[in-house]
Amino acid sequence: MKRMLKQIKIPKRIGKLAISVGLLAGPGLACVFAFDYPMRVEKVSERVFALITPSRELPNPENGGWNSNMAFVVAKDGVLLFDSGSSEAIGLAAKNAIRSITDKPVRWIVNSHAHGDHWLGNAAFSDTVETIIASAPVAELIANDGARWVALFNDMTGGITQRSEIKTPNKIINKDDILSISNLNVELILSGGGHSPGDLMAWLPEERVLLSGDVIYSDRMPSTNAGDLARWLEILPRLEALDPIAVVPGHGSVTDKEGITQLLSLLNALWQSVEEGIEKGLSDFEMLPTVSKALEPFKSRYPGLEEKLRRDLSHVYLQIEATTF
Ligand SMILES: [Zn+2]
Repeated sequence: MKRMLKQIKIPKRIGKLAISVGLLAGPGLACVFAFDYPMRVEKVSERVFALITPSRELPNPENGGWNSNMAFVVAKDGVLLFDSGSSEAIGLAAKNAIRSITDKPVRWIVNSHAHGDHWLGNAAFSDTVETIIASAPVAELIANDGARWVALFNDMTGGITQRSEIKTPNKIINKDDILSISNLNVELILSGGGHSPGDLMAWLPEERVLLSGDVIYSDRMPSTNAGDLARWLEILPRLEALDPIAVVPGHGSVTDKEGITQLLSLLNALWQSVEEGIEKGLSDFEMLPTVSKALEPFKSRYPGLEEKLRRDLSHVYLQIEATTF
């Protein structure tokens, strides 16, 4: 993917200099520079649409930081947005994409979890959003770690993600709940911290669509370095039982029940192979080759498996080791 910078209003400035001028422009001025995010709206069901990133990477200069999916639901009195991207600029690009479908304002946002690629775009909707929904651990992590995510993504993207105002959630979910939002029923489901602390999903029963955040990855290796694998293995059969006609995952293409089943097989195989290694008395480092071999059948479907396994194995190992004593 080619990086493209659009320059508007300051024609004499180009390239990296243009980015820094955009930074200096600060709040209150029009967004002067933007990365050209290839946002295409994908219709998922009658009222649900997805913005699926083509990237299967972490934020980098090529994807301009846009590496996670968003979804939106057009209700009678406004739009519900599920996740908002890695920066305010990405949120603005999403806002434009939503306008190609409806003139209704984004009034409600759900932040699925606290990783910065899923909520830093909240500020792009400050003019219309009334309610930002998240679980208690996520709201706390956003408030505490926001500035660090902004700095990290600027570092990873060579400055493309720029500034993002931190907009914290104002409606806190402490247990599974059903909200009536306009003419929508939205069932909020907590994962129990499977993928990361406070993961929240939205099930739309009338549409039979699941907005899963990172509890589901469809065709990219999930990150298992911030969660609780045992809890993750418990929640996935519950999601299968919903029998969704579509699942918008946090990363990867739109999938369905089969995508949940596949992920469950992958995570089960991961658990089993690590457990076998522990029973043989191997350290995490020593078991890496056999775990990698056990996961061979999943490698074509889940790119990045090898790399993330190397990064995350020690975290998974400690969890499984704790359950074997
Ligand atoms: Zn993510």
